[in-house]
This record gives sequence, C-alpha cells and structure tokens, in this order.
Amino acid sequence: MPPSLPALWHPALRRFVDDHHTLIRELADGFSAPLHFVFPEPFADNVAAFQQVLAEHGIAGRTFYAKKANKARCFVRACAESGIGVDVASTGEFADALAAGVRGADIGVSGPAKASDLLMLAVMHDALVAVDSLDELARLAAMARNQRRAARVLLRMQPADQKRSRFGWMDDALESALAFCVSNQPHLRFEGLSFHLSGYSAQARCTQAGRAVRACVAARARGLSPRMIDIGGGFAMSYVRESDWQAFLATHQPHDYHAGKTFEGFYPYYQAPFGAAMLDAILGGVPDGETRSLAALLDEHDLQLMLEPGRALLDQAGFTVFAVQGVKDRDGYGIATVNGTSFSVSEQWFASEFLPDPELLPAVRDTQGTPYRACIGGASCLDSDMLTWRKVAFPQRPRAGDLLLYPNTAGYQMDSNESPFHELPLPPKIVVTLAGDRPRWRIDRISPFSGA
Ligand SMILES: *Cc1c(COP(=O)(O)O)cnc(C)c1O
Repeated sequence: MPPSLPALWHPALRRFVDDHHTLIRELADGFSAPLHFVFPEPFADNVAAFQQVLAEHGIAGRTFYAKKANKARCFVRACAESGIGVDVASTGEFADALAAGVRGADIGVSGPAKASDLLMLAVMHDALVAVDSLDELARLAAMARNQRRAARVLLRMQPADQKRSRFGWMDDALESALAFCVSNQPHLRFEGLSFHLSGYSAQARCTQAGRAVRACVAARARGLSPRMIDIGGGFAMSYVRESDWQAFLATHQPHDYHAGKTFEGFYPYYQAPFGAAMLDAILGGVPDGETRSLAALLDEHDLQLMLEPGRALLDQAGFTVFAVQGVKDRDGYGIATVNGTSFSVSEQWFASEFLPDPELLPAVRDTQGTPYRACIGGASCLDSDMLTWRKVAFPQRPRAGDLLLYPNTAGYQMDSNESPFHELPLPPKIVVTLAGDRPRWRIDRISPFSGA
C-alpha cells in the first residue's frame, strides 16, 4: 500500500464533519465554489493554552496573533475578545484589526521598511513598531516629533545563527540604533528587542531570547528603559501522528506522485513539542551561555515576554471543501479535477506539497467500492496547478459532485496565495460556531479584494 497520512482532528470538528454532511453539501452547492470553513472556538482554545503556559511560569506576557496566516475577520475578532494583540504588516491588516475591536496599543507592526501610512497609523494609535533600519527609525522619530507623540519601538535583532536573513540589525548596527533611541527620547520610546526565527527549534528561540535579555540589560545601562523581549512566531504544529509521518517519510517514492514529481522538502507535518507546549519548552529551557531558565531570567530582569504565533493559533481552526468536477483514469490511478485552484492550498506554491490526506465526502457512499488512487488537479489551464500531486488512496472512485475536504488548512493554506485567476471566484469563508444545540454558520466579512 502507498503511504497515507490521515489528519489529526479536534473531536468537535470531526463530529461536525461526520454529523453534518447535508449542511456541508448545501453550503458547497449554495456558494458553488470551494469553501473555507473557519472555527473561532478552537482558535480561542489555542490562545487560552498559550496564556496558560505564561501563567504557569508566572511570566507577564503578551500574545500577538500574526494575522498574515489567515485573512478571516473572525480570528481577529476572537483576539479582541480574548484580550490578546495582533501582529500586522500593512495598513489593510492594521485597519482590519481596529475594525474587529483590537485596541491600537495591542497591535504590533512588523515587516521591512514600512510605508509611511503604516507608520502614521502606528504612531497615532500607540502601536508597537518593530524596526530594523536606521532609515526607518529616523522616519518614525520625525513623524512622532511632528505629531508631538511618542512612537513605541522594538528593535529587531538579526538572529545570531541566521546571518543570511535580510531582517534584523546586525550587532554593531544595533549599537547605533540604541544610540539613536537615546538621543531621540522622548519621541522614540524604546520598549525592547525582538526577533523572529525561521525553523521550529525551541532551543534556538530560548538561546536567542537569552541574547535579547542581555541586550536589554546593556540598553538599561545607557539610560533606556526596555520592558520586554519579543520572541516572534514559528511555533510548531502537528498535522498527523508521529508513526504515520515516520512511515510516510520512510516509504514514499516518486511513483507515488503524478508525473513522478519529486520535492526538495516538506513542512514537518509531525513535530514535538508543538503549540503551547513549545512555548513551555522555550520558557523552561536554559539559553546557551546561561545557567538559569529563560523564565527565571525574565523574572530577574523584570522583562515581559511577547510572542507572535500565527500558524499554531490556527491549529484545528478550519478546513477547506472543494467539489469534484470530473475524474479521468490514467495508468493505474486517476486525476480528479476540482472546482478551484491550488492557490487555495498555498503550500503548493512553495515547491512543496500539503500532505495531510484530503478526505472524500461522496454524494453516494459505495458500500462495494474498491479503493482508488487519485491525484487532485485544479480547474485552471496550468499543468502545474495541482492541489495534490500525490496519488491519494480513496475508499472509492471519486465522482463529479462528490466533495473533497482538505483538513486543518486555516494556518497559511487558505488564502495567502489566492487570486481570482481565470475569473474564478475567491472561495468565501464560512464561520462555524459549535457551542449550543446545533452548529451555526455565517459568512465572514466579504474580502475587500474579492470584487464580490
Ligand atoms: C510570519 C511571522 C510570524 C508568524 O509566524 P508563524 O510561523 O505563523 O508562527 C510572527 N512574526 C513575524 C515577524 C512574522 O513575519
């Protein structure tokens, strides 16, 4: 048998899928497009799990949801309701956070060389701006002075072991940035140091956080008053069981994919620790060069911890449903074409593949059905528009009108790359809440970019 990768499911979402086929089908028919289902309740549970870890370590911390991971308004609204902040990188994201009820002081602004409109929003709303160039620092200081306000600033460090990153100050440049902050008080209010690492190592984050703590201590010696360090995002997530992931990696072969497609690498679909447990490992870990845990260091130096998880807060907070438009047989497998494109499964656009098994929701379940392997193609005219190159084993041959469910897609998969290519409509987002006697659905606000 070719390797399969069944998704891990939140029990409440699994029950929703198993018990509400008719509702899912009616919505798919009613909107006649692929649909993203989004669930604010598991999102709020993930937020609570992170807050719980901070509380257990006695750390004054602030969580900022990295909004780029999903455009749905409902998640930003859940942030406002949970009292956490939002990390944004454009005026559109900033405005959306405000519109959902997030206070300006709870908005973090990241991203390289920010447009002056974005800096202006930040200055006027007391948002916290992460800066990594002298040019931007000078623009921000001038803007704050003109408005007779104080801009709240984090200086973003270049990670010590990611020297090729285009983000962050190198050590000597950080020195001049701190000097600039000293001479531009009170219009620049230096609040601390930040970083955002690629990869998913808890120890690398713990060690870089140790460096940030030392840099805060040094900044205090020059008369600055940092209050926090910001360890960024990159909290790991698991989509599948460890045993399935290991078995998959050990056995998959080029002929398990349409056209013998090969990949340089995959997202690690199983990781440990993940989510809030990874925050626990970071706080309990001892940074290289220190003798005490990061939590103890933060406490000793009276520093808060800020974090910016994106994907990890969206774990189990959504899935995506396509309708099958047609199936054709190939040599020993089939190509099922759906009513949308791979732009709605963003992983496909990073020379990689979203691997958790899509699930067939057949219009008619065939009790005598024989297993059938199929890859999944998009409705566009691009040969490379494949939602899944892998020949997935389905319990029966998919047919036009069946639905295909991609699990756990809320984190980055849904909409970071969507486009109305071929004049195909952008998939709407259906917000589902599960508390109460039956599930309730509503449409997330229509995207201002959908033309709808
Ligand atoms: C993208 C990003 C995040 C979120 O990363 P995740 O991997 O989704 O947790 C946080 N901070 C910054 C600065 C980012 O660019």
